[in-house]
Amino acid sequence: MAVLNRLLLGVRARATTTTSYSKFRTFSSPCSIVNPEADLKASPPSSSSSLLGSKPLPLLQDHHHHRHPVQWVFLGCPGVGKGTYASRLTKLLRVPHIATGDLVRDELSSSGPLSSQLAEIVNQGQLVSDEIIINLLSKRLEAGEAKGESGFILDGFPRTIRQAEILEGVTDIDLVVNLKLREEALLAKCLGRRICSECGGNYNVACIDIKGEDGSPGLYMAPLLPPPHCASKLITRPDDTEEVVKERLRIYYEMTQPVEEFYRSRGKLLEFDLPGGIPESWPKLLQALHLEDHDDKQSAAA
Ligand code: ADP
Repeated sequence: MAVLNRLLLGVRARATTTTSYSKFRTFSSPCSIVNPEADLKASPPSSSSSLLGSKPLPLLQDHHHHRHPVQWVFLGCPGVGKGTYASRLTKLLRVPHIATGDLVRDELSSSGPLSSQLAEIVNQGQLVSDEIIINLLSKRLEAGEAKGESGFILDGFPRTIRQAEILEGVTDIDLVVNLKLREEALLAKCLGRRICSECGGNYNVACIDIKGEDGSPGLYMAPLLPPPHCASKLITRPDDTEEVVKERLRIYYEMTQPVEEFYRSRGKLLEFDLPGGIPESWPKLLQALHLEDHDDKQSAAA
């Protein structure tokens, strides 16, 4: 973490002293040329829910030998549940959950100099500039380092090839979990998302029940309703409107989907098709991560 932060600080310093893309870019490592044939061989089968191909991902072995706290990334479309699963896993693995979306929202709700500029970008479903994101992430890592944090699960970063290159230039990512869900469920989940304005708890009022047809399986996701003390304090994110969610999905396919390929070609991508809601998905995810026997699994699920 210390190395990651020092170098990100370097990137940040460079980024804030110039708006020149090319100068900023010289700081990142060059993108490897992707060989699509090699990718196919290296990647685990995407449709499988057991997920690990015949070749085990080396990062999982590292984790089992306890060589270092995990350095994982969660990728996936808006509404897929990155925050939910990343947050549960961080409790289990005792590493910080660092969600760049949360960092952006914290900055938005402060009266800092960036807040009005950010509001406009985020509420239109666009991506914040790489420079701003690196800046916010560096500050977060710096604060974590001061508290003695190590390891991390990054959620919502990297979201562009350039962010992935910068990250690769400063630290080794062990594993990238790519969560997947059908698009009709993604939109419904974003529209049903509710947040408690007091405790920050995440809930969902949508009941997703897609019937299986023509051989494709159905999908059922029960609502995740708030406890009574949160029920009267629920708010929706301003960027969770139908129009903005559709734009966020479009931006995901354009800007972030290439990041999946970036990690797939490096043999680090674990594809996980969510089979349903939390009760069905959580045990399967633990299994895919070889964490099903982890001592603390019950407490994380609580
Ligand atoms: P989503 O539900 O779309 O995955 P997040 O909560 O992760 O949303 O992020 C909310 C918004 O914050 C994004 O739409 C984007 O404007 C901004 N954001 C978050 N992470 C990044 C990033 N790594 N790069 C650029 N913008 C980001």
